[in-house]
Amino acid sequence: MQIVKTVADFKTLRAEWDRQRLTISLVPTMGALHAGHLSLLGPARKADRLVVSIFVNPAQFGPQEDLQRYPRPLERDLSLLEAQGVDTVFLPSATEIYPEGYRTFVTVEGMSSELCGASRPGHFRGVATVVLKLIHIVRPHWAVFGQKDAQQTIILRRMVRDLNLDVDLLVQPIVREVDGLALSSRNQYLSGEERKAATILFRSLELARQAWLRGERESAVLLRGVRELIDSESLARLDYAAIVSVEDLRPLAEVSADALLALAVFVGSTRLIDNVFLPQPLPRAGSESGSPCHEE
Ligand code: AMP
Repeated sequence: MQIVKTVADFKTLRAEWDRQRLTISLVPTMGALHAGHLSLLGPARKADRLVVSIFVNPAQFGPQEDLQRYPRPLERDLSLLEAQGVDTVFLPSATEIYPEGYRTFVTVEGMSSELCGASRPGHFRGVATVVLKLIHIVRPHWAVFGQKDAQQTIILRRMVRDLNLDVDLLVQPIVREVDGLALSSRNQYLSGEERKAATILFRSLELARQAWLRGERESAVLLRGVRELIDSESLARLDYAAIVSVEDLRPLAEVSADALLALAVFVGSTRLIDNVFLPQPLPRAGSESGSPCHEE
């Protein structure tokens, strides 16, 4: 497995792959890898070369957020990726991506300040910018993302369309622990009690999905149920819960074919996110796409 740390070296390698007419997949990550990240490698393997980037992107963290504290178990990440048969890890430094004097940022308007963007101003500007840069540097045919970050995938799809980028975005289902908690690098911030309380996200999505299966279509009613369940957990505080269109994140008063229920909840001081498409069954915890996390 090759580890490439500079843009110049990556471009040299990429030019060689062009000469060989190889296809490329990219899986962008911030490291601290778990089974959710590894699930993204599956569809990426259809390319001749599989590239994983590890970059804790300073531009997507707010000043009060966990940039310094974000876990960076690099050796472990690299051995996991090597064991998965990844060809190349792109591992740039912050100054490699944002050199002195860097000034260019991308904003997908009307989608970046809602939902997670409301409590994380500038977050999606940072995400869109780094993903656009990675797409330019790696020039992948496919880039794979997780449904876990639903708003991110919707924004990135729009960026790819608006900027006529020659890349196909693939989105993989959420990988969950057996009790339903979506895998996240931030789950390791949780204390034992908080970890138990954190199932409230999955339980509230499941509550809404059950109500939807029983025929409830009014978003206000579904969201009230979610809010009440989350309020009943003393360690949890709702940041937002919303039913929006997967096309453009527009709030939906009635659940329609393209509805996504997304939420963010503080459990203690850790902010967790989760979501479900209402017209589709939520993968059962422990079932294939909701399978427990075993990184081996
Ligand atoms: P991150 O390292 O948090 O930036 O995540 C890198 C990629 O992994 C993103 O596309 C995430 O959506 C995806 N991802 C993170 N957690 C999960 C999960 N539990 N299931 C599926 N994909 C995930």
